[in-house]
Amino acid sequence: MDLIIKPTELCNFKCTFCSSTKLVEDKAAKLDLMKIFQFLDRYPETKTIIVNGGDPLMMDPQYYWEIIKYLDDNDLPATISLTTNLWPFYKNPQKWIKLFRHRRVGVATSFQYGEGRLKGDYSVFTEQDFTVCSDYMLYYVGYRPSFIAVITEENEWSVIKTVELAKEMDVVCKVNYAMASGEQDAPYRLSKIYEQYIKIWEAGLAPWEHNTQQMMKRIRGENTICPLTRTCDSNIRTIQPEGDYYSCGAFGDDKDKAIDFDFEMKGGFVTPLADSPELNSLKMGCYSCPMFSICNGCKKTIKDLKEHDMVEDHCYHMKQLGPKILEANGLDMQMTPYVNESI
Ligand code: SF4
Ligand code: SF4
Repeated sequence: MDLIIKPTELCNFKCTFCSSTKLVEDKAAKLDLMKIFQFLDRYPETKTIIVNGGDPLMMDPQYYWEIIKYLDDNDLPATISLTTNLWPFYKNPQKWIKLFRHRRVGVATSFQYGEGRLKGDYSVFTEQDFTVCSDYMLYYVGYRPSFIAVITEENEWSVIKTVELAKEMDVVCKVNYAMASGEQDAPYRLSKIYEQYIKIWEAGLAPWEHNTQQMMKRIRGENTICPLTRTCDSNIRTIQPEGDYYSCGAFGDDKDKAIDFDFEMKGGFVTPLADSPELNSLKMGCYSCPMFSICNGCKKTIKDLKEHDMVEDHCYHMKQLGPKILEANGLDMQMTPYVNESI
């Protein structure tokens, strides 16, 4: 099991695409550590505690030391993975160095080109800002962090440039598509991001971009992780700042498909995503289509594309991309023809 925690919705940045701006009623709410400890008692095999938010560095470092103490005291194996914009670390490295160097702690960050990633004063977080944060990590902690870039219509031009930057820094980035939550009204269409992954593949840049590798692995039937897994219910849980509980961080951002925390802590187990037939596939034709596993690999994306009436546009485009994806993987399969199921 992996656990995603969002200790707070508070953030020092003001990104225009942020998915996490509608998590709580009380903006100052902070996730009670007891909830995390209860979870770890229920699932002692938890491998990773993924921390996002809000920005994890809006919490005092002591919050994370308490979690580490609990893990140590109970001889639990979990590691802690913080995804932060690193700006508070850049402003005051001494506050965070000891925590970041701890053997249980890993740090990832985020950067993208375009006008959407804004610091607290609404100025753009530039490549120069990002580089200096990365340099600080290398200097004080000993490595450059991997980074996530969120792609929207506004910065779709920048995908290759983003992966080239990752290559230059010798890290693997994750080029994610925007989902429809929080400030982001509509999702970035899935077929458009697959078109970008094909370009990354053709440019020989796949070793520096995680999702391109995942797409290719998935189409070959190999195991993949979020956002290409249909088994999220079995291996992911999320606790939001006010303690509400889900089997997917993105559904948590929408406050959709919540799980009763107390029920599960007493030994119950539920699978809300698997139990929702409307999340099984984008359309009936998917079941006989070679693209099934990558078009229907994420239940949140199925929900987004359906709710925003984007299924047919996505499908039409995927039917054109499919042969390239199959050929790149040496798969001798024929694409099924496009059929518009909306009429
Ligand atoms: S539904 Fe999608 S975003 Fe949510 S955990 Fe599953 S793969 Fe990840
Ligand atoms: S290409 Fe169309 S039919 Fe095939 S899996 Fe994707 S959405 Fe479904």
